Amino acid sequence: MADKTELLSLSAPELEAFVTEVLGESKFRAKQIGQWLVRGAEFSEMTNLSASLRERLSEIAVANPVRIRESFRSKLDETEKFLYELDDGNLIEGVIMRYHYGDTLCVSTQVGCRMGCAFCASTLEGRVRNLSAGEILGQVIAANRNIRREDESRRVHNIVLMGSGEPFDNYDNVVRFLRLVNAPEGLNISLRNISLSTCGLVEKIYAFAKEGLPVTLSLSLHAPNDEIRRKLMPVAQAYAYADVMAACRRYGDVTGRRVVFEYALVKGVNCDMRCADELASRLRGMRAHVNLIPLNDVKERNLAAPSKREAQAFLQRLEQRGISATIRREMGADIDGACGQLRRRYLKERT
Ligand code: SAH
Repeated sequence: MADKTELLSLSAPELEAFVTEVLGESKFRAKQIGQWLVRGAEFSEMTNLSASLRERLSEIAVANPVRIRESFRSKLDETEKFLYELDDGNLIEGVIMRYHYGDTLCVSTQVGCRMGCAFCASTLEGRVRNLSAGEILGQVIAANRNIRREDESRRVHNIVLMGSGEPFDNYDNVVRFLRLVNAPEGLNISLRNISLSTCGLVEKIYAFAKEGLPVTLSLSLHAPNDEIRRKLMPVAQAYAYADVMAACRRYGDVTGRRVVFEYALVKGVNCDMRCADELASRLRGMRAHVNLIPLNDVKERNLAAPSKREAQAFLQRLEQRGISATIRREMGADIDGACGQLRRRYLKERT
């Protein structure tokens, strides 16, 4: 089982090579199989293939590495949370949000995470393993299959790599995923509709700028300076604030895309007016947008969100200083919408 070929991780030419060279079948069969794979079919459902070919495929290959084990629908909005199960029994989670501009799916890139951010539930038990490109793509395919069951016209339109895991700690698989999800014979999702969120691994930001993939870079900043950032994010010990900003500026220049800075507002840590002023001065002159996120309380950590009034005051101060900013609307508050919370609850129940 360990040696089975995961077909979803293959590009169209690689799938063709597998089908012609390993199976000794025609190119046409590769095309048929590819069409089934993007719809999330298992081999047994691929009815235009012979029974013997389906049998052989299931012995040596995996069609669908991600299954939705449970889903939870918010009663407050149409947000839906998925708990996915992988072939090795690992659990990951995702969430789909219905916006006026289309369905947006949040995907995970690792099982767990090793970045250790103080406020984040995904990192509490460290990193278990990287996800393959096919396992990241499989989340999109499984979500599509789920939402289409009730409404044929729905499909995942935008993707945010903001689930569990650090995308740049799984760089090659993430880049492969982005090419696969954008392929015309695949899901054909525009790279412009994709955002990648990173805690700021500087060399990887420079490398990513050279990939020719026009995705939006979201940088988890969460602080106006090194001192405060280091309190919240261990990664800030490895990379200085100024170096992270320089990398982001380069990314914006090379791709022509505005960088989004995520800033979780943490009571008593990073949201007074001095912080707003310092943040504004750091971003001045840059084509940037600040996404303020009132902290989702994580019980295990002793950190909380500021009041609505404080958050509003922080936003206004940035705007007065000429910085484009918004407060992120909270969605799915009743279904553990924030990343890592659902999986954690499950792991606890298991033990
Ligand atoms: N590893 C990537 C992506 C993961 S999380 C990164 O660090 O960007 C997506 C965003 O949610 C990040 O900005 C992360 O810092 C933020 N986040 C994590 N836990 C949070 C919490 N409890 N409240 C608010 N934002 C949180």
